[in-house]
Amino acid sequence: MQADVLRKKFLEFFKSKKHKVIRSDTLAPKDDPTVLFTPAGMNQFKKEFLSVITDSTTRAATSQRCLRTDDLDKVGKTCGHHTFFEMLGNFSFGDYFKKEAILWAWEFLTEDLKIKKEKLWVSVYKDDVESYQIWKDLIKVSADKIIKLGDKENFWPSEAKEKGPNGPCGACSEIFYDWGKDTGCGKPDCSPACNCGRFVEVWNLVFTQFNRKEGGSLEPLPKKNIDTGMGLERLAAVMQGVHSNFETDLFLPIIKEIASRIERRVSSANLGQVYAIADHLRAVSFAIYDGVMPSNEGRGYVIRKIIRKSAMHLKSLGIKPPFLYKLVPVLAAIMKEPYPELNARKENIAEIILAEEKGFIATLNSSAALFKDKFTGLSDKDNPQDIGGIVFQLFDTFGIPLELTEEWLKAQGFKNLPAVAGVVSKKLEEQKLRSKSQSAMKGDVFDIKDLDLGVKETKFCGYHDCDSKVKILKMIKGAKEAKRIAVNDTAEIILDKTSFYPESGGQVGDSGELIKGKNVFTVLDTKKSGKVIIHIGRVKAGSFKKNDLLFAKVDTARRLAIARNHTSTHLLQAALRKVLGAHVQQQGSLVAQDRLRFDFTHFKDIDKTQLERIEEIVNCYVMDNLALKVKEMPLAQAKKEGALAFFAEKYAHKVRVVSVADVSQELCGGTHLTFTGQIGLFKIIQEGSVASGVRRIEAITGTAAYKAIKAEENKLIQELEKRLTRIKELEKQLHSSKLSSVEATLDGLIKDSEEINGIRLVTHIAPGLDMNTLRRMVDLIKEKVNNSNAIIAVGTGNSVDNALLVFGATQDLCAKGIDVVKLIKEIAPEIGGSGGGRKDFAQAGGNQPQNLEAAIKKLKTLLSQIKI
Ligand SMILES: [Zn+2]
Ligand SMILES: [Zn+2]
Repeated sequence: MQADVLRKKFLEFFKSKKHKVIRSDTLAPKDDPTVLFTPAGMNQFKKEFLSVITDSTTRAATSQRCLRTDDLDKVGKTCGHHTFFEMLGNFSFGDYFKKEAILWAWEFLTEDLKIKKEKLWVSVYKDDVESYQIWKDLIKVSADKIIKLGDKENFWPSEAKEKGPNGPCGACSEIFYDWGKDTGCGKPDCSPACNCGRFVEVWNLVFTQFNRKEGGSLEPLPKKNIDTGMGLERLAAVMQGVHSNFETDLFLPIIKEIASRIERRVSSANLGQVYAIADHLRAVSFAIYDGVMPSNEGRGYVIRKIIRKSAMHLKSLGIKPPFLYKLVPVLAAIMKEPYPELNARKENIAEIILAEEKGFIATLNSSAALFKDKFTGLSDKDNPQDIGGIVFQLFDTFGIPLELTEEWLKAQGFKNLPAVAGVVSKKLEEQKLRSKSQSAMKGDVFDIKDLDLGVKETKFCGYHDCDSKVKILKMIKGAKEAKRIAVNDTAEIILDKTSFYPESGGQVGDSGELIKGKNVFTVLDTKKSGKVIIHIGRVKAGSFKKNDLLFAKVDTARRLAIARNHTSTHLLQAALRKVLGAHVQQQGSLVAQDRLRFDFTHFKDIDKTQLERIEEIVNCYVMDNLALKVKEMPLAQAKKEGALAFFAEKYAHKVRVVSVADVSQELCGGTHLTFTGQIGLFKIIQEGSVASGVRRIEAITGTAAYKAIKAEENKLIQELEKRLTRIKELEKQLHSSKLSSVEATLDGLIKDSEEINGIRLVTHIAPGLDMNTLRRMVDLIKEKVNNSNAIIAVGTGNSVDNALLVFGATQDLCAKGIDVVKLIKEIAPEIGGSGGGRKDFAQAGGNQPQNLEAAIKKLKTLLSQIKI
């Protein structure tokens, strides 16, 4: 029986027992600080288990995708250890208990799956008489096939009575499949308690009935729950008659694909590595599918580590170029039925894995240089502590596998390697402990912080009304319920309904005021705990008490600014998909009143033209003033219609779809504009990379965008004015320094003057001077030569005026009839221009500075022909 069929049969069976079939939760739960990845089916029902949420659902069934990394090193070496797996489970929240849970489990296995009764054994908790009797008297399992086990095996969480964690717990009962006498140790007393491999645990039924308190006391839960878990992979192995989960149809196509690329044949020596790669492929693909990107911290680091582990396995199998990513389509095909979205995103997921593989392979290739660098000056004689520290750092920070470093050290002649290995393994142990204390359940199974509100749900009526008449249900001051709060008190208020939007889906919470006559409570922020909305703020005037009737007034100007940014993120996503491609997937967002931030998957840099185009497209949507529409519909229909969903978000059965004409359609619970024109203006202020394959755009809209542009314009003008003033100053300085340098040359010029026809001619042509300098030169030379029948002719070529000529004549020469205006008018055409002036002083401008020398030559000719 195929895994697809098993999964379906299971859910259909429990549907027929009046269970609500619920979609698998994400692998990366957002609001659960107690786990890194979803470890089991019950994780998404914590609140139901503690009766925090009590909606109509009391029976649920799921096929939950799970990820655990505790046994990462065992994966591939055994038949049944996995990082990623699917867990079939049925749940009762204060509804049925042991009897039904046992009956139905038996019915499903023996009637629907037709497993022979004699192949099944069961275990019960040693003190659980009730379960024992159900198995023996009601189901009629023979007593020799019912074994009693202790706190370690048949209590959940294991040994919780003694060691904790606090929270819900209870006895459990397991169902085992017997592979037959000849498969195990052969001992006559072999039973499910024996680890020889003859028995496999198929199904674990947990009867959650206690709440463990600090100190170890077990108090009965108000409502008893059922939480069962059956690994799909193991069930598939049993049903397909294979001992190893890796030989089921969930893995075989992947295994075959890997095997086809190995040059050496698959053998018992390398089969474990092939299995491990197949397992890791599933873990990283589904984690990325759920929005986890490889990175250096938290979930991202786990995924990075698993990809690196796969790359090392591939390397030792002789597959050197990136390969893991090529397996994604194979996995997508296997999972097409339960996860069609995985198939739709396979290219994108493959790209993310490829980028990571490439990076790691590059690190490996550069490892030799890194080794040289890090171990410089160290030798075998040095402290193993120091060497081990570096080995660990290379592993932890640079991702260089320990074996590789060890090989290199060996080749360099290091002999004291066992001591080094000891240091490294101690460091690894410490790190493991650290990450355990960071990520694992912290004392309590659940985060109980938000459990005792005593209010089930706050009705949100803020999509249309921003003002509403409301009643105070509860007030909390300093983590305790308060009967009355007075001026300046900081408090949290829970109302029967509210128009205040609580922070969620990346959108910040509303602020505003709660008003009762002259009594005013300033709401600074609004948050959500489960389905309860909490108004956080301070009493501004007067006082409040429980059951007060109030007027809730949202700060509408701020709400509108937030809506501008929220609607803009939808338009931005549409524009990104248009410009960059449909692989763009939302990875996160922030919608505040002053800006928006949007993280998305994309692998290359975004160039300036693309970014400008994206901004332009969004602004076109704004100018088109498109209408927004909001519709509620079943999730399945929304997906069918192609609405974009944010995978890290958990969606209810009925979803809200926000659409903007035919431009954008997204599942979204946020508050939006009515028309895109209200955005006014959309301006991108920043773009960059936040992780491998994830980019971030920050933008502003409306008033903020207008103000930013205005401020930029003012800044530009100020800057320009400053520079113009500076240019004038510099010109002045330049002029005076040129003049003084010219002055120093005047005597030399006079000395070099020649006499033509009884006229003394002083000339000077130099580049880069200006008209003022030339005029001043002429005046100064006139003074210096002191009426000695002189003509002064100076000229320059510069970038502003092209060519300039200034002529001057001394008074005695003028008295003899010399007229420099006549001269310059005749000569100016030489430099492509014209001139004018007085008898004793004339100037000309032209556009051919290269002909200035020729002009002076012409002057000399004219002077030689003149009669005085
Ligand atoms: Zn045995
Ligand atoms: Zn949205």
